[in-house]
Order: sequence, then structure tokens, then C-alpha cells
Amino acid sequence: LFIIGGILGFFVFLVINFHIKRKLSLHSLIEKGIIRKEFIPYYQPIINVNNNKMYGCEVLVRWWFNKKELISPDDFIPYAEKSGLIIDITNVLIEKTLIQLSSLNWKKSSAIISINLVPEQLENKQSMRKVVDLIIKSTILPKQIAFEITERMSFTDLDKAASVIDYLKAQGINVKLDDAGTGYGSFSYIQNLNLQSLKIDKMFVDMIGTHDHKLFVLDSIIAFGKKAGMEMIAEGVETKQQSDYLLQHGVYLQQGFYFSEPLKFEQFSRYFKEDQR
Ligand code: C2E
Ligand code: CA
Ligand code: CA
Ligand code: CA
Repeated sequence: LFIIGGILGFFVFLVINFHIKRKLSLHSLIEKGIIRKEFIPYYQPIINVNNNKMYGCEVLVRWWFNKKELISPDDFIPYAEKSGLIIDITNVLIEKTLIQLSSLNWKKSSAIISINLVPEQLENKQSMRKVVDLIIKSTILPKQIAFEITERMSFTDLDKAASVIDYLKAQGINVKLDDAGTGYGSFSYIQNLNLQSLKIDKMFVDMIGTHDHKLFVLDSIIAFGKKAGMEMIAEGVETKQQSDYLLQHGVYLQQGFYFSEPLKFEQFSRYFKEDQR
């Protein structure tokens, strides 16, 4: 029994060791990626279905690993969030976004650029100051920038977040509640934070045309958003049926494959120029 225990223990040791090594190597790969500026923005248009014009775009990170392999956020964002590396990734991403979109003469449009942040970032005024400085130094107007803050993760200090959001507001930057309805805090966040819009998660949009008996959840989120006087954006719109349903229920800002996938800069710039005509 003693020997079997010993062997088992050794295996556990090996497995744990393997996991630690893998994590460590992901950590250093991300760090290298930050230095080499391998994190690049993709842009997904958000459409105003009322006039079929672009309301703005969401910036979605892609990891151009070793300049040859494109890695999507699901494979590194969870770790980047946990380890805090997300802060440096975001800074690289914002820098790049501002340079690319400035070159399109973005300022002349009225389009919004929506950037994802994790709660931790919004609780850190110093790091947000740096981001705001970057924005002010660019040709993009602060009122053309919005931050999306996911409800999947909770804030540790809601008061701090509230004060940073007020600071951003004072600069003209709005904050949107992302993945609304999927997480911990819709009600308390909306009660305590100065949020301007609500992004309805794909999970609820998916119900349209597939699980119609569950549509009361989507309908309630929409009613809630209306009552709160918030701007609403639906994400993950894939079909005409979904788009029509949302429009009929007053949600005219829509984002999803039905309109466009996230695009790399060259494609997005064509899309943007076409839209500006
Ligand atoms: P999210 O913020 O909810 O972003 C929407 C995700 O849905 C994106 O996935 C987008 O490509 C995808 N999507 C958009 N329309 C459709 C559609 O019609 N059908 C389907 N099936 N998917 C659609 P992506 O780019 O893989 O990003 C996944 C998540 O990773 C994001 O979810 C966000 O939580 C996180 N993320 C992405 N970029 C960043 C970033 O720069 N910073 C942070 N903190 N998180 C990011
Ligand atoms: Ca988002
Ligand atoms: Ca979202
Ligand atoms: Ca989502």
C-alpha cells in the first residue's frame, strides 16, 4: 500500500508540475508577445439597423503568434485576465487601434470605438489615466471611445470603479455593460455605476427562432434596458429573423455575423470608407 501510495503521489507531482510549467510557458509567451507587439486589433462593425449605417465598431484582440499563427481570445484571455497581463495587452492594443483608425480620419465620422476592459482595469485609476492620455494625444475624440466592461467577472471594489467611471465620463468617455444578463451584477452595476449602454449577450439572441418559449428572458432584459433609459446593443446577431425581432422590440443597434465578422484592419478600412459615402 505504501509503495502504491508513493507511486500515486509521484504521478500527482508530475501532473501538477506539468501544469505549472505549461502555465509558466504561456506566461512568458504572452510577455514576449507584448514586447513584440503580436497582439493586434480586429474590428467588428456595429450597425444602426434604422439607417443601415455604422454606429461604430468593437475592437477584438487577436494574437498573431510568431507572426504566423492567429490565436483567438478564448485561448489566452482567461489566463491573461487571471495573471494581470491583460493590462499590458490592452495598452498595446489601444495604441495600435488609435494609430490605425486615426489614419482613416476617424474623427470626421461620428462612429464609436468600443474597447473591452476587465473590471480590474476600471478599478485602477492610474492605469486608466495612461489610457486616457493616449486617447487625448491621438486624433480620435474621447467621445468616440467607449469601454465595455463584462459582467462575467465581478468587481472587487465597486466604489473605486464608480469613481473611475465618473472620471472617464468627465473626459467624455462612456462605459457599456457587456454580456448583460450572464453574470453577477446587472442590477447592482446599473444601480451603482454610471453606465450608458447595455450589450445584450449572444446567449439571449440565440433564443430567437430556436427556443421561442425562452424569449421572455430576452424580452425582460430589453424591457429593463428601456426602463433604465439605456442604449442597447445586441451582439451575436446571425440571422435576418433575429435582426427583425430585435428591431421590432426597439433594439436597433446590432452586431454579428449577419452584418460582418470581425475584420482585420485592411478589410475594415474598406468597410469604413464604403460606409462613410
Ligand atoms: P465579447 O466581448 O462578448 O465579444 C463578442 C464575441 O462574439 C467575439 O468573439 C466575436 O468575434 C463573437 N461574435 C460576434 N458576432 C458573432 C456572431 O454573429 N456569431 C458568433 N458565433 N460569434 C460572434 P472573440 O473575438 O473570439 O472574443 C471572445 C471574447 O474574448 C470576447 O467576448 C471578450 O470577452 C474577450 N475579448 C476579446 N478581445 C478582448 C480584449 O481586447 N480585451 C478583453 N479584456 N477581452 C477581450
Ligand atoms: Ca465585448
Ligand atoms: Ca459582448
Ligand atoms: Ca458576449
